[in-house]
This record gives sequence, C-alpha cells and structure tokens, in this order.
Amino acid sequence: VQRTGELPHAKAAHFTCPHCAVDAQQNWEGAQIPPVGGANTHIDAAVLRSTCVLCEQRSYWIDGDMVWPEPKLGPPPSVDLAGEHHSLYEEARTVAPRSPRAAAALLRLLLEQLVFSLDTMEGTFNDKVDRLAHEGVITRRVVDALDAVRVGGRHAVHGGQIDPSGGDDAGVVLMLFTIVNTIIESAVTLPRETQSFLGSRVPSS
Ligand SMILES: [Zn+2]
Repeated sequence: VQRTGELPHAKAAHFTCPHCAVDAQQNWEGAQIPPVGGANTHIDAAVLRSTCVLCEQRSYWIDGDMVWPEPKLGPPPSVDLAGEHHSLYEEARTVAPRSPRAAAALLRLLLEQLVFSLDTMEGTFNDKVDRLAHEGVITRRVVDALDAVRVGGRHAVHGGQIDPSGGDDAGVVLMLFTIVNTIIESAVTLPRETQSFLGSRVPSS
C-alpha cells in the first residue's frame, strides 16, 4: 500500500483514495439534477463524483472540495496502534484539514501517552524519552524529531494544548504522524514480527 501519494484535489487523474488509502486512478462524472416539478435535467457543474478504479468507492465534491467522505490528512494508522491511541490518531486525521493546530495538540497528547506507556518507570517525559533511546526502543533520530516539533525538549508544547504561537501547520502535523508511526514500528511492530518469525522457525525435535 502506497501511503504518501497525491492529496485529493478536484478532477485529479489520481489521488490517495479516502476509502482504500491507495494512490489510485479516479474516474470523474458530473451531476445531472432534475429540477423539482420540472421535466428538464439541469447539469450542475459544481457537483462532481469521483470513483476509485481500485476499490470502486465514490467521493463527492462541491465547488472543488471533497465533501464526502470527510477529508482527512495523514497516513492511515498502524495496525499496532490500539484503543485510546488509535482514537486520538484518527481524531487528528479528521480535524487536520480544518485545524492543523487542533490536530497537533491531539498528536502531541498521543505521543506523550505513547512514551508513558512504553516507559512506566519514574521520571519526566524527557527522562523517559532519553531512557527509551538509551535502551534502543527508539532511535536518537526520533528524539531529534520530537525536539524539532516541540514534543519534549526545552521548547516543548504540552500535549492537548493549542500552541498560541500559531506555528502548527500541516507540515508539523505530517511530521507528528511520521513520528508516531516510526515509534510504533520500532517499539511494537518490529518486536512483534520478530517474535512471530522466530516462533515459526523453532526446529521440531
Ligand atoms: Zn479506493
């Protein structure tokens, strides 16, 4: 599955489908709307429908904006993102197109919760991040990335808080999604798959 394709825009030959999340070819059609009580068919050029050639599901557009399904920003969540973490991630994807600042607040909260669930020992958020990096659960590059988008570090914005400086734009939001997925990949997915791989190769004696 290709996750970082074209963002949907009206009349695009292909974009990342909101249904199947694949960057897939789209077929476009206009809407013929019969007037109430009249026989003639009015063609409303503002209303468009696109159909994904892969999953055959439709998206509806008015005046160049996708109105259904609800536009989202960010890649689909990892299968290893569960429960409350999954809910925060999906909520951030939903609000991100209209409010990157709200999405960033949700994602910083999610990252704080992830770090606290991965390291249950005493200490501050920064202590935990350092310990996880020291233990190799996350890499130093993840620590640098967390600092860059002000999750932890000296200029941290607290999770769940709107950053009053207004610096949280779509670029910050996409970076926060990348960090969540990188942490999950290295702390949960890889160990789980390694264990299952080794389990399947135990020699029978
Ligand atoms: Zn599709």
